[in-house]
Amino acid sequence: MRERAVIVGSSVGGIRTAQELRRLGFEDDIVVLGAEDELPYDKPPLSKQLLLGTQTEDQISLLGAGGWDGLQLDGRPGTPATAVDIDERTVTAGGEEIEYDYLIIATGVRPRTLGGLATNESVVSVRELRDARALRQRLAGGGPMLVVGGGFIGAEVASSARALGADVTIIEALEAPFARAVGAEVGGHLASLHRDNGVKLLTGVGVDAVKQTSDGVVVRLSDGTTHEAGTVVVGIGTMPNTEWLDGSRIPVDNGVLTDASCAVQAAEGVYAIGDVARSIDKGATVYRRVEHWTNAVEQAHIVAKQIIDPTSPVPDARAPYFWSDQFGTKIQMVGRPAESDSVELRRFLTPAGEKTVAIYGLRGAFAACVAIGWPRSIATCRSAWERGASIDHVVAELETLSSGASVGLT
Ligand SMILES: Cc1cc2nc3c(=O)[nH]c(=O)nc-3n(C[C@H](O)[C@H](O)[C@H](O)COP(=O)(O)OP(=O)(O)OC[C@H]3O[C@@H](n4cnc5c(N)ncnc54)[C@H](O)[C@@H]3O)c2cc1C
Repeated sequence: MRERAVIVGSSVGGIRTAQELRRLGFEDDIVVLGAEDELPYDKPPLSKQLLLGTQTEDQISLLGAGGWDGLQLDGRPGTPATAVDIDERTVTAGGEEIEYDYLIIATGVRPRTLGGLATNESVVSVRELRDARALRQRLAGGGPMLVVGGGFIGAEVASSARALGADVTIIEALEAPFARAVGAEVGGHLASLHRDNGVKLLTGVGVDAVKQTSDGVVVRLSDGTTHEAGTVVVGIGTMPNTEWLDGSRIPVDNGVLTDASCAVQAAEGVYAIGDVARSIDKGATVYRRVEHWTNAVEQAHIVAKQIIDPTSPVPDARAPYFWSDQFGTKIQMVGRPAESDSVELRRFLTPAGEKTVAIYGLRGAFAACVAIGWPRSIATCRSAWERGASIDHVVAELETLSSGASVGLT
């Protein structure tokens, strides 16, 4: 009898699952439900290449020239899933109840709004293709831009907007941008990249009020100052898209809870992956929701393999990884720093010039690193993390990769 996999969410997690299922020999039905009225596309370029105009919409397509048919997928854009029944094994979408043998939840996240203020033409977030299209048009019209939130997506939008000639200010409530992800010290270091490229950075201040005017927006900050802008870009975090699962008995707590194979324990045949999933690593005790592209791809592979062969072993956790591109510099993070970790910034001399790597850890154990403009160092850091190497080993291996000794900056 033919089986059916229903994938809810047609972004990188969902599409990679479909691709991997086909690659591994799944010949039965695959239905892909997408909330957006678009063919599947990749999200990282939205704040970078697409905004800058260095890539086209066709180039960020996830399906390639063959479209849905190339993989024999029953793709249904503009058809959000609205409910699931784990007893009947059905998903409701577009007025239909679709039976599944396997259900893959890949519905991602959506941006938080500023004080509950709905986004409009001049107060925007960048999450979907239509957001990037609209922002690109607004940027062409000029006018100062305020970016609220010094996270990576906001910082990338700031970088792209500066490259297009906009006057850009970032407002961050913490003492340094990126502090939540990399800590204040490394955040402060990365802040200089923005200042050197003409971005104004206001830290330690929040937004008290946003007022729409005839030609833009006036923002009042917690220090009493007011700032006029043509566009306000809001990048203050996200919320998982799980409301459609309400009442389904699929466990949700800031994301869909899964085991290390991305399976939802309480519901047979149900998996969750990518930004919406809060999974536990093999052998670990902490559930984490990870909003990084590589995590969605790795989890898609794990799920496809489990569906094809439920006895296949769950792989050991790979080193967590994400990248960001700002002002022509690649910023890459491997591992996961804990609050109690200390961090040392080290400068390595390479044939391509001096490169900075922040190395995090505790009592000599390596926890994470952030490489600034040195992509070649990442394979070394990933392999060191996966082997459980010490900080001394990581530094020695990076020194070998560069042309000699390194200098501590902190
Ligand atoms: C602007 C931007 C830049 C980024 N840059 C980087 C980067 O440089 N490096 C990095 O590591 N990561 C980056 N990321 C994060 C990365 O893109 C995400 O981790 C990745 O897209 C997660 O994929 P996903 O499939 O889990 O979820 P998403 O990409 O969020 O996709 C989920 C999809 O599900 C759809 N959906 C929601 N509800 C329903 C429903 N009920 N029914 C059907 N469909 C539904 C949504 O419309 C969406 O299309 C960036 C993200 C953004 C937005």
